[in-house]
Amino acid sequence: MASLYSTLARNLPDGSLVLFDHDLRYIVAGGDDGGVAALAPPGCQGKAVRDVLPPEIAQSLEPLYRAALTGRRAAAEVAYEDRWLLVRAGPVRDEHGAIVAGMSLSQDITDTKQAEHALRGSRDLLQEIIESSSDAIVAKDLEGRYVLINSSAARLLGRPAGEIVGRDDAALFPADQAGRSREADTRVCSRGESETAEEHIVVDGRRRTLLLTRSPLRDHDGRIIGVLGVARDVTEQRQLEDRLSRAHRMESVARLAGGIAHDFNNLLTVVLGSAEILLDDLPRAYARRSDLEEIKAAATQAAQLTRQVLAYSRQQVLAPRLLDLNGLVGGMESALRPLLGARIELALDLAAQSGAVRVDSAQLEQALLNLVLNARDAMPGGGRLQVVTRTVVVDEAFAREHAPMRPGRYTTLAVRDTGVGMDEETQSHLFEPFFTTKPGRHGAGLGLATTYGIVKQSGGYIWTESAPGAGATFTIYLPWHEPLVAAVPPPPESAGAARGAGETVLVVDDEPAVRVVTKRILQRSGYAVLEAAGGVEALDTLREHPGPIHLLLTDVIMPEMNGREVAQRVRGQRPGIRVVYMSGYSPEAIAHDGLLDEGAAFVRKPFESGLLLQTVRRALDTTEQITLA
Ligand code: ADP
Ligand code: MG
Repeated sequence: MASLYSTLARNLPDGSLVLFDHDLRYIVAGGDDGGVAALAPPGCQGKAVRDVLPPEIAQSLEPLYRAALTGRRAAAEVAYEDRWLLVRAGPVRDEHGAIVAGMSLSQDITDTKQAEHALRGSRDLLQEIIESSSDAIVAKDLEGRYVLINSSAARLLGRPAGEIVGRDDAALFPADQAGRSREADTRVCSRGESETAEEHIVVDGRRRTLLLTRSPLRDHDGRIIGVLGVARDVTEQRQLEDRLSRAHRMESVARLAGGIAHDFNNLLTVVLGSAEILLDDLPRAYARRSDLEEIKAAATQAAQLTRQVLAYSRQQVLAPRLLDLNGLVGGMESALRPLLGARIELALDLAAQSGAVRVDSAQLEQALLNLVLNARDAMPGGGRLQVVTRTVVVDEAFAREHAPMRPGRYTTLAVRDTGVGMDEETQSHLFEPFFTTKPGRHGAGLGLATTYGIVKQSGGYIWTESAPGAGATFTIYLPWHEPLVAAVPPPPESAGAARGAGETVLVVDDEPAVRVVTKRILQRSGYAVLEAAGGVEALDTLREHPGPIHLLLTDVIMPEMNGREVAQRVRGQRPGIRVVYMSGYSPEAIAHDGLLDEGAAFVRKPFESGLLLQTVRRALDTTEQITLA
């Protein structure tokens, strides 16, 4: 029998054959080179398996062989060098059924094994890629049930993957959202083409914007078996883009409005000034006085409008100083109450110690007033109006959500009402000039635009929180400064006649019409007036006029030399001279805010003669030189 087995073994087409006895000793062995080399090395006959084979191979074969000798069939995969062998063993029985030996057959399965391995590897890799993608990836079957969802998708949908797989959109989302999604899935499957679109979903009450691509999912034969969805959450990105494009829009509107307002300003200065001069000259009893009064009133109103537009376009010349915000708000309380009526409760909630802010106080008061008036209008049936000041630290996260804000310390001034609130659409236009939801009246829609301009020009930010029916909060963030040790007293208000006593005033303005009107107002009130169209001419005038010049009244923005330089040069020649600036506009304000020296005496153009005269008088009467060089 052994010889028959030997013959058989030698002739095996592949693999090897081994016959062993009850002591696990080789009886017969043979086969192809690989198999023989591994399991039945030359000269193994009569020797025990464990004495011939390397221990790790012997260890995996012995149990198999023993099992065979007890009558069972068994199989094992055995690694040998860089190959894999499948070894099957079973009993050899005589004609009576008694086990006389064991037999094993081996077969090289390296190729199969490698293919299997490669497949498993690429599956794992695919799984890994899907799982580690920061994009949300989902697959649905043709019935719309989720069959796969990666962890980014689970995070986006706000539920564990286990709660989503096996269910469809109808079970997970509000009906309209699920309906839209199902419709798109069906379309993609029927057309067999991908679709990319931006979609809005609501997760945990928060609206998210997704950039979602749906593709048909196909099997091996190209049949569509479902939909693959890949989505990216672009909510923050879109919000940022919206904010930036809004800021852009505001910027160009501001530029346009500011340009027009600038020219108007000069024209109005002339109209107003000339009307006043005429009124002065005409006899009290003159019948047409009222016409002139009307011209003056209309021009004054127009000037007010112009001023608001300039404020919005951030082209006002501000006179900022450090001041205590609580002081400013507290000081306005008594002025605000009567505006609100009996049904609105006004509550001030001021920080224990507010930081100082660097602002033009009159302008910030205007900004606060605008917010308060809006709050009043939003509560026709009464309500509660809170004015709150705080010191806050803006962290990275908050700053990111409120681009282009920078992290850091701010002093905030918030106006909160319990009124009708606003929808998103209204909120997106809020700060645009002439945007209003109130029936037309003079200057409507400029309140928030003005406030916005003032806040921006003061280096601050303004943010809104509101929903329909839920009231509104407007919060102004201003750069924080060390609290002031003692409150800075407001500049003294001088009343009474503000006439000149023969003092000489040098008027410098590049606009001839403005110069003429200003000169005439001053002359009529007891001043001697010299005039110049610019800095160079002003210096010439100084040379030609040896007598005293008491005050320099100069425009701020002029083509060759700005007001500040003129003042410096003039002071160089006449150290004791007082300076008053006048302006309504600063083209540089667009690029970098055109600001004056702190505490500089200043009149806004177009001016009423009374205001100009008061400012000039006050500057002359001040004993100290308050204007810094
Ligand atoms: P105006 O008050 O003249 O309409 P504003 O620029 O001050 O102009 O305000 C623009 C619009 O913003 C208002 O018409 C109103 O629709 C809305 N608004 C402003 N403040 C509030 C508020 N506190 N509550 C509700 N809506 C407001
Ligand atoms: Mg308003």
